[in-house]
Amino acid sequence: MSIIIDGKKLAQKTRENLKIECEELKEKGINPKLAVIMVGDDEASKVYIRNKSKACKEVGVEYEEFLLKSDINQKELIDIINKLNKDKSINGILLQSPIPKHLDINEAFRTIDYNKDVDGFHPMNVGKLALGQDAFVSCTPFGVMRMFEEYNIDLCGKNVVILGRSNIVGKPLTQCCLNKNATVTVCHSKTQNTKKITKEADILISAIGKPKFITSDMVKENAVVIDVGINRLDNGKIVGDVDFENVKEKASYITPVPGGVGPMTIAMLLNNVIKAAKRQNGLNY
Ligand code: NAP
Repeated sequence: MSIIIDGKKLAQKTRENLKIECEELKEKGINPKLAVIMVGDDEASKVYIRNKSKACKEVGVEYEEFLLKSDINQKELIDIINKLNKDKSINGILLQSPIPKHLDINEAFRTIDYNKDVDGFHPMNVGKLALGQDAFVSCTPFGVMRMFEEYNIDLCGKNVVILGRSNIVGKPLTQCCLNKNATVTVCHSKTQNTKKITKEADILISAIGKPKFITSDMVKENAVVIDVGINRLDNGKIVGDVDFENVKEKASYITPVPGGVGPMTIAMLLNNVIKAAKRQNGLNY
């Protein structure tokens, strides 16, 4: 029987601590502020930014939205980012993806001042993370690392297997685990005999977006199992990549979906905004 890693509770605790930090900053005349840019009217993105705005309000981080029409051109988008880069009242800038296909998202990400890149997508932050230097880390991997810390799960010398190699989850998570001295194996859609690899994992992390892909026979006895996947079934139910009910009988620790990694993502975004505000005002973080 495993210990269920409670992401909801940890995210709440993180937000409470950040609220105190935010109040302390305000006493010093510093008002942490996040700017969110959304292009077009993707329904899922609307929900995501609404949640981000709500979380900012709860913690006391100022929030401003820039809702741009889907037919905006690249220069107009870049001009807005540059304007926000120069605006000293804004500490963090987030470009909500996806953006319309005629726009170059990579150019947009690298235009964001890397000191305000609270999503950790700027090549400078990606590079610094790879070099083991202090960087803004993509919020979902950062949330997973925070969970390990909270539950005293030491990665040093452990066999970590990560399923998924996306730029927002799999790759930064790989770097984070390497930086903690884990031995990391990354599986992707071309990996052969995945089960043989996952069975060797002391810590198994799935971020592929396939419901119940990780079955109990793919998991080593007492492994730590982290489920990043969020999948909506036809009946509307949200499930992860892991067959939770069966795998939990074998794992030492396991994250549920919902209530696991998901809630940590926004909490770590807020953490990054506060970190940016502190840094930009010459305070240690
Ligand atoms: P993504 O960009 O679609 O990447 C999926 C990755 O999974 C790819 O690297 C793909 O390999 C790999 N993959 C696909 N099938 C596989 C298989 N059978 N075995 C091993 N690897 C396989 O997705 P993402 O943005 O990283 O998100 C992954 C999941 O996490 C989704 O369910 C998403 O909703 C969820 N997510 C959750 C949070 C959160 O806050 N909890 C945040 C972000 C994402 P290739 O590279 O070869 O195509």
